[in-house]
Amino acid sequence: MSDFDLIVIGSGPGGYVAAIRAAQLGLKTAIVEKTKALGGTCLNIGCIPSKALLNSSHHFSFAKKEAAAHGVVIADVKLDLPTMLKRKDKTVTQLTGGVAFLMKKNNVTRFEGTGSIPAPGKVSVALADGTTEEHSAPHIIIATGSVPIDLPIMPVDGKVSVTSTEALSFDQVPGKMVVIGGGAIGLELGSVWARLGSQVTVVEFLPRLAPGFDLELAKELQKSLEKEGLKILLETKVNGIEITGDRATVRATAKDGKELALEADKVLVAVGRKAFLGNVVPKSLGLALDERKRVKVDAHYHTNIPGIYAIGDVIAGPMLAHKAEEEGIACVERIAGKAGHVDYDVIPGVIYTHPEVASVGISEDQAKERGLDVKIGKFPFRANGRALASDSAEGFVKLIADAKTDKLLGAHVICPAASELIQEAVSVMEFGGSSEDLGRTVHAHPTLSEAVKEAALAVEKRAIHT
Ligand code: FAD
Ligand code: NAD
Repeated sequence: MSDFDLIVIGSGPGGYVAAIRAAQLGLKTAIVEKTKALGGTCLNIGCIPSKALLNSSHHFSFAKKEAAAHGVVIADVKLDLPTMLKRKDKTVTQLTGGVAFLMKKNNVTRFEGTGSIPAPGKVSVALADGTTEEHSAPHIIIATGSVPIDLPIMPVDGKVSVTSTEALSFDQVPGKMVVIGGGAIGLELGSVWARLGSQVTVVEFLPRLAPGFDLELAKELQKSLEKEGLKILLETKVNGIEITGDRATVRATAKDGKELALEADKVLVAVGRKAFLGNVVPKSLGLALDERKRVKVDAHYHTNIPGIYAIGDVIAGPMLAHKAEEEGIACVERIAGKAGHVDYDVIPGVIYTHPEVASVGISEDQAKERGLDVKIGKFPFRANGRALASDSAEGFVKLIADAKTDKLLGAHVICPAASELIQEAVSVMEFGGSSEDLGRTVHAHPTLSEAVKEAALAVEKRAIHT
């Protein structure tokens, strides 16, 4: 007899959601987490604290720069950074405590320690007091997540040159900040500190920001970020970071070949994350990894070792919390004999800057690269009443539909509420719907979502308000 039906190693959005779903399906479940708080990268040092700071810094920036235009006069806007950080920490504690509550409520046994798999069917937990416990289960899910990529030319000392973790808790606003990497982390955390008064320079080696997103969206985002005060250097190659005392110089080569020496109080290295496996599986078990050291799995998240599964950032695919969650659910449903499935063509991605950018499905550039016959419908927020009334008229919605069948293949939104608006397109795509389905759906007036409907009508060149 095994102690449990399922043991999950790692309590990020992949692991804890898998544990809850398993419990719902009647599996006797345990979860092993090496840190004190549950919730993984997302809740502790990722999605949630970054969004808390994005929200607070946006309020600060609004009060300083935009409130007056609304007839709201705020005389002396000051930053109280300790309070801002405290609010962020409180949000994190509230949510990680919520996950602990959910574990209890669902009768998931929690082990606080570092988990490893000495043999199939066995999980060993190294506890903080130096002792080790062993437990058994026929099914084990590895959900150990990811960590920041570290490059030898970009050493991180945790003080001057930092990862996203430290950049969520600077105790003062850096006078000058260099952000290496114009992806999700660089742009979100670069925005936070720029809004709070830092002179932020983003160094990106590609000719564009936000790789993976529709190019037109990325270009529009760049304009908005530059307006917000971020300096953006594209096609710029970082050659090294020199740290002297509490300051750094980032050496880089600009696109015109000019050598740059960028002075900074903080350097945020945000050049991507890599799968983290640690010593979870001894080499002798022969767990198969791919070329980027991610755990290889089949369509049902089974590794090459019977009874051992993997989900989330530790396997291939976009490193996103909702992707990890869906994989956790699908994996467990398969274990329980049900038909769990993740539709990888319909996973939305969002960058929570101001404005936000959100995408799902194929981009216009991908449609061109693949030689697909598509129709494109676009609608600008400047022609949307609610956007004008809310002073958020920048940006647009772009929809991509199959030229013959009209099936919706992609949606791209840039506006302050893009993260919420994208979900309508996600649902339509999940049901295999068409742009006509969207265009014929009644949308409340006045709402930003009317721009989604108008973009759908624009696919057939019949938008009403342009
Ligand atoms: P993780 O969340 O990384 O969790 C893995 C867990 O496993 C950790 O708690 C770790 O301590 C634990 N662990 C590892 N090894 C062991 C072991 N041997 N024993 C026990 N426990 C172990 N994604 C979004 O979708 N939206 C966002 O807005 C977003 N913002 C982000 C902002 C930042 C700054 C960062 C860094 C990431 C962000 N992400 C965002 C990405 C998101 O956090 C990850 O994709 C997600 O957390 C992956 O979930 P996971 O369960 O696979 O792994
Ligand atoms: P990323 O892959 O999103 O972006 C990294 C950027 O760094 C890319 O633009 C890349 O071209 C650039 N880069 C790489 N090497 C470079 C170099 N030597 N010099 C200059 N630029 C370089 O990675 P990230 O921003 O570090 O985020 C890590 C992961 O976390 C991502 O997979 C992302 O999906 C996830 N995340 C998601 C969100 C969100 O969903 N809103 C927020 C934060 C993080």
